[in-house]
Amino acid sequence: MTQDRRNAPLSPATRLAQALHHIEEQTGAVTPAIQLSATYARGADYAPRQSYIYRRDGNETTELAETIINDIEGAASTMLFASGMSAANAVLEALPMGAHVVAPGVMYHGVLHQLRKHHASGRLTVDFHPVGDLDAMRSLMRPGVTALVWVETPSNPDWTVTDIAAAAEIAHAAGAKLITDCTATPPPYCRALDHGADISFHSATKYLNGHSDVTAGSLATREAGEMWDEIASIRTLHGTVLHSFDAWLLIRGMRTLALRVERQTTSASRIAQQLLSHPQVEKVLYPGLAEHPGHDIARRQCEGFFGGMLSIITKGTEQTAIDTARHCRLFYPATSLGGVESLIEHRKTVSGPGFDVHPNLLRLSIGIESPMDLMVDLDAALMRAAQ
Ligand SMILES: *Cc1c(COP(=O)(O)O)cnc(C)c1O
Repeated sequence: MTQDRRNAPLSPATRLAQALHHIEEQTGAVTPAIQLSATYARGADYAPRQSYIYRRDGNETTELAETIINDIEGAASTMLFASGMSAANAVLEALPMGAHVVAPGVMYHGVLHQLRKHHASGRLTVDFHPVGDLDAMRSLMRPGVTALVWVETPSNPDWTVTDIAAAAEIAHAAGAKLITDCTATPPPYCRALDHGADISFHSATKYLNGHSDVTAGSLATREAGEMWDEIASIRTLHGTVLHSFDAWLLIRGMRTLALRVERQTTSASRIAQQLLSHPQVEKVLYPGLAEHPGHDIARRQCEGFFGGMLSIITKGTEQTAIDTARHCRLFYPATSLGGVESLIEHRKTVSGPGFDVHPNLLRLSIGIESPMDLMVDLDAALMRAAQ
């Protein structure tokens, strides 16, 4: 899982396109093989031939996907899980009983649900602050006690930006680790570890894979150590390692990651700009817009690649927003994000009760279709819903 030095001076887009210049040793195949074996025969000396014993510990195909993510994250070590949630859960479970965690009150609903559950059961003590509010975060820190600070940037579903470097300073001053969820702005553009995060979490289901045909979660660490070993042990014993077939799809997906994110950023920027002046749109939430409060931080943190995620608050009632999603012909009315196909969702319906979501919020995941086609579709749906 260490970085291949030969590739270090090449740009990440080049390294991704060639899956780190992968060549199968025995055949010369430029596409990796899929290792499906669940178990591995030992050698004549009864020692494992390589490091592989049983698939729950990991396998060659999953390791290649890990090596690629490790490379674009600039990490010391990377682990892939069967979903983003299984990766997030492994981190929470690796914390000792009663550990103190600081997290935002608005974030991806699955992780928020788990944090609330652990808090209610007393397994963790979790203090929540308004998302993106670093002063509030600082005031919740208990020096020497707080174990983990969770940051999601830009955050679901309103794309509030948090300065990772500033959050890292706050966490580290109290002796806590910082974990970031930058699923909406993937590496190689947003590299959370470079900004001071200790662990970078991604739902690889989203941009990293990019084709809505895999669920996967990735954890990349700046430093291996006791907690990292515990996370690895949880992955093995829960059996949540990413399946090799899914890893193979992820490797294929990542070959076009740079191309996709570049296109999605350009399209989302154009669409966000046009929606700003749309008569049926109250507000556009997109860090790529110059007027977005987190614009400058996002630009610095993501090298100008703001990604394809934006939300709009529609005029009218909650039903008007739901009708807009229903009336789209091109945008799929589906949850998830980061795929090549564009999605629209009424977030309040999808996250369910108990989450702080504006009733008129529609979350858009911009794919790689023609942005003009997408804008025509959105405009027609917005106008029809308003009638
Ligand atoms: C999807 C998502 C997750 C959860 O990942 P899964 O792969 O769906 O388990 C976590 N955080 C964010 C920001 C996400 O978008």
